Amino acid sequence: MDQPINALGRPDLRALPQVQKLLETAAAAGLLVRYPRSVVVKALRAALAGERAALRTGLYSVFDMDRFFTDVRRMLAAGELSALRRVINATGIILHTNLGRAPLADAALDAVRAAAGAYSNLEYDLETSARGSRMRVAEPILCELTGAEAALVVNNNAAAMLLALSALASGGEVPVSRGELVEIGGSFRIPDIIRQGGARLVEVGTTNRTRLADYAAAIGADTRLLLKVHPSNYRVTGFTEEVARAELVGLGRSHDLPVLEDLGSGNLLEPPPGLPAEPTVRAAVTAGVDLICFSGDKLLGGPQAGIAVGRRNLIDRMRRHPLMRALRPDKMALAALEATLRLYRDPVRARKEVPVLRMLAEPVEEVAARAGRLCGALIGLPGLEAETIATDAMAGGGSLPEERLPSRAVAVRAATAGPEELARRLRARPIPVIGRIAAGRLLFDLRTVAEPEVEEIAAAMRELLTEGGA
Ligand SMILES: *Cc1c(COP(=O)(O)O)cnc(C)c1O
Repeated sequence: MDQPINALGRPDLRALPQVQKLLETAAAAGLLVRYPRSVVVKALRAALAGERAALRTGLYSVFDMDRFFTDVRRMLAAGELSALRRVINATGIILHTNLGRAPLADAALDAVRAAAGAYSNLEYDLETSARGSRMRVAEPILCELTGAEAALVVNNNAAAMLLALSALASGGEVPVSRGELVEIGGSFRIPDIIRQGGARLVEVGTTNRTRLADYAAAIGADTRLLLKVHPSNYRVTGFTEEVARAELVGLGRSHDLPVLEDLGSGNLLEPPPGLPAEPTVRAAVTAGVDLICFSGDKLLGGPQAGIAVGRRNLIDRMRRHPLMRALRPDKMALAALEATLRLYRDPVRARKEVPVLRMLAEPVEEVAARAGRLCGALIGLPGLEAETIATDAMAGGGSLPEERLPSRAVAVRAATAGPEELARRLRARPIPVIGRIAAGRLLFDLRTVAEPEVEEIAAAMRELLTEGGA
């Protein structure tokens, strides 16, 4: 379509086609078969606005019908994509909070499908036909795996802590070591959650050293419980001293006060020989900690959930608290959690089938084999340099903050696009590929990339470099 040029030598924007006229074209007819009319009209308007801006700034000099409809089709296709979608995690961070933390085991996915796609006995007692409790779903297996008397599941660990403090410490005081007044992931801060739970924080000791005598001096008539927080995402090193769990439990007993521990990551397994470990939940139970809270989607490798295990009387007080209803987990999370926990009955099986555990323990030679396959598929793409390099992956999610997991990455450099631009284009794809940038190159860390995703990354790069041009 020819575009009249006005006196200034600029395209005449008034001469752009009207939406009504565009709707009558054959190209639009094809789209109207696939998409609702309102959606097509919206895309036409948006593409027209883009066209107008491009003509005004001189990016285009004429209106081109083919280019215009390519734009419209791209917009409509993008509109079909869910806001929440699968991505390929090539960052090497296994528990990446921004990328959804733990991918679920197949058994957990099956359980979600079964529980969510049909009716279930979520709150129905099959023996008596009376109303049951969703709480019985994961409680028995949690007790079995941790040795605790009772267990309770809520939405996430922040909710478990809020509920524990609200039910057990509201109106009273909670002494916490100054070395444990931590912030986890921006919005969860121990002092804030204590205040929100209606309790007063009593700071004990110093940032680097806290002794049992400091706790003892802080205990008064209003003290409701003693709180211990696992410093998930950092370590205090150097001239430090912290009170051992058993000592704190002893102090609690002598004052008739429960000890609550925020363990952060719910590690249920002793580490395989030679591998570093987070403290296990069972160790905390065995040491006599009265109540322990942890996440379901960190090292445990299950769905987002907050789990509290411990003494029955404390768990019962949490269960009866009015907040329980607001914090209760949904059936999909419960189904996934129970199925994940079942895998733990056999630790060998858990390490094979729970993706987080598998990625943590995979021998570096196997990671290297995947890296070799990806590198082989990328070498020879036009204008691309690719090589396999040794690197370190990380557990992430505030777990094992200092441990580096040996890994392999494929580092790429494109002739026509810098690493930031390449990363941006990979993020813009229907299945985004998220890598990391180091020393001017884009890295794909293979520890967090599953076998079938190797070919997906290769295909994405092929398309970027041969079709769109990078
Ligand atoms: C991660 C973490 C939390 C928050 O857990 P969510 O399940 O993300 O709510 C609380 N405390 C500690 C120590 C943590 O590591």
